[in-house]
Amino acid sequence: MNRQFDLHSHSTASDGTLEPAELMRRAAAAGVEVMALTDHDTLAGLDEAAATAAGLGLAFVPGVEISVTWRQQTVHIVGLGVDRSHPALVAGLGRLRAYREQRAEAIADALAAAGIADTLEGARAHSSGRLIGRTHFARHLVERGYGTSVGKVFQHFLVRGKPGHVADEWADLSEAVGWITAAGGQAVVAHPARYKLTRTRLIELFEAFRAAGGVAVEVVSGSHTAADYQRMAELTQRLGLLASAGSDYHGPEQAWIALGQLPALPPGCTPVWHDWAVSAAPAVPA
Ligand code: AMP
Ligand code: MN
Ligand code: MN
Ligand code: MN
Repeated sequence: MNRQFDLHSHSTASDGTLEPAELMRRAAAAGVEVMALTDHDTLAGLDEAAATAAGLGLAFVPGVEISVTWRQQTVHIVGLGVDRSHPALVAGLGRLRAYREQRAEAIADALAAAGIADTLEGARAHSSGRLIGRTHFARHLVERGYGTSVGKVFQHFLVRGKPGHVADEWADLSEAVGWITAAGGQAVVAHPARYKLTRTRLIELFEAFRAAGGVAVEVVSGSHTAADYQRMAELTQRLGLLASAGSDYHGPEQAWIALGQLPALPPGCTPVWHDWAVSAAPAVPA
């Protein structure tokens, strides 16, 4: 139970900067013992990550992070332990990636209307070519001198109320949880402290998620503060949800937290991995 779990990360299959194999090598080198790859709306990196992890003796959890629209808010739902060939999951994610293509054109048009022309090809050049997201636009805008960091460019151009923002229409909450569950996975609310929701609305989100079959919440996230850990630990215990932990690592240039540095879950939480076979296995000797 004291193994080092990191159950949320990204590779070049979505908006991370490391190839899946390199991400696994660095996670193992940093002392992570159980690692999930959870790219946005795609399973494309899982085969490579699984093969590399197996060679390293790193326990690998095939995952995904699904984009959801809940009451006009974007919410991310992580799936852990999914079957990467499950038809409902594969088809659902395919639909979201097709939507990403349309949205990318809309983002490029919105930026052009604000005086920043020709961003689509530049954004694509930062992607693997299989999935496009706002992070790829952000990297392109940094390159063109529109800001000194991806975070700053997001703030000025890509978030709600800014020129390159377009209203999102992702999967329904129940649909996304359904795909994950059908594929044999556990659904987890990603980084809940990042959403602009009041406590009451956050509890409503957790209740709707649980009613749809969701089982866990990220209590420890690379993007959470220590106060967030406590707040989310209390809420999960009150609502009977399991607790997860993940760095949300996107690569060394853009890390909330370095690999292998996640703190333990607060006392009283039931880990999402409490009944996984890997929890019972003896720790890998150093
Ligand atoms: P998308 O799913 O294409 O809308 O992009 C969402 C991704 O953008 C997130 O997973 C983060 O990687 C990144 N992101 C969102 N907001 C910010 C921000 N304020 N600063 C830096 N990266 C962000
Ligand atoms: Mn991302
Ligand atoms: Mn996310
Ligand atoms: Mn993420």
